[in-house]
Amino acid sequence: MVCTGCKAAFWGKRWFNEGDEGAKLPAGHVPGKVVCPACQRMKDNNPAGVVTLSGDYLLKHEEVILNAVKNVEAKTRAKNPLARIMEIGQEANVLTIRTTDEKLAEKLGKEIYKSHSGKLGLQWSQDESFVRVNWTR
Ligand SMILES: [Zn+2]
Repeated sequence: MVCTGCKAAFWGKRWFNEGDEGAKLPAGHVPGKVVCPACQRMKDNNPAGVVTLSGDYLLKHEEVILNAVKNVEAKTRAKNPLARIMEIGQEANVLTIRTTDEKLAEKLGKEIYKSHSGKLGLQWSQDESFVRVNWTR
């Protein structure tokens, strides 16, 4: 099956990015249409992770940090097509990143903390399907 939104393919129990080797279908196979969980979350505006970045240090290093965020997303998404950033928002001095995958949000927080230190806090929901990540420096 192929997602009508992002063209990710569901094949052999897992998702592949469009163009991945594993996503190639046998000749003559017509894939079914589906909306993948990541596109569904975007449609419903229902993130699995919310990362909040704040602080004076952030303002001075915003570009570097946003680049790191995009790199982490690209790397994660290459392995898991369902792990994406839905939206990066800025309000006053706070950056908010909403993700379709809770592990991606966790990874973003940890990566920024690793490279820039600061203060990192993670709050998981009881069933661990949602995480709120706060980083400040
Ligand atoms: Zn999709």
